[in-house]
Amino acid sequence: MSNKSSAISIARRGLMFVLSSPSGAGKTTISRRLMELEANVHLSISVTTRPRRPGEVDGVHYHFISGEEFGLMVNRQELLEHAKVFDYYYGTPKGPVEQHLAAGHDVLFDIDWQGTQQLRQNARDDLVSVFLLPPSTRDLEKRLHTRAQDSAEVIAKRMSKAADEMSHWAEYDYVVINEDIEQCLGEVRTILHAERLKRHRGIGLVDFVKRLREGH
Ligand code: 5GP
Repeated sequence: MSNKSSAISIARRGLMFVLSSPSGAGKTTISRRLMELEANVHLSISVTTRPRRPGEVDGVHYHFISGEEFGLMVNRQELLEHAKVFDYYYGTPKGPVEQHLAAGHDVLFDIDWQGTQQLRQNARDDLVSVFLLPPSTRDLEKRLHTRAQDSAEVIAKRMSKAADEMSHWAEYDYVVINEDIEQCLGEVRTILHAERLKRHRGIGLVDFVKRLREGH
């Protein structure tokens, strides 16, 4: 008998995988590693009015746009969700996400709790939300300093915001503590793999079961 695995594949709808955390909890690293390890995951590239940081590339990290352009996108309802974070506006363009989901691709979002709340209201069935927590406040501060991309003033502001952001942990489907990157990554991948198997995403199941019951 052959040991080859089955070639049966049931069509499924993609899912929206949201990773949120206070700045410095390791979300960027986890997202990058997830993209490297998982086939079929596409990153949603947000629009933002924030100025580009050194090393950031327009169209890769964000689409950097003006406040006026942002306002137009909101008015034309081209954003799935949008929010003001710190002093700038951020939003998720609708078109690419809808195309990916329909094609059975998963989409990864690095958005804050405000955006996640909006997605929960508008797209609950497609949404899987994960909140990453740092192991300690000291660790969070250390990571923000190591990153050293922002001024001391910005870091202080982000630290004072972190407590506010963390108060939203209970609104998420899953909470993962990022003490060890590899362990955290493993837990996040387990969540993704299990969520892909949810019955309601298996849009090909109805036909599959129908054929089984008809004796094919
Ligand atoms: P940063 O300016 O450090 O890249 O991001 C600041 C915060 O904005 C992060 O918490 C990030 O998750 C959030 N963010 C980035 N893009 C979006 C977006 O499209 N929508 C929302 N709601 N938040 C976003």
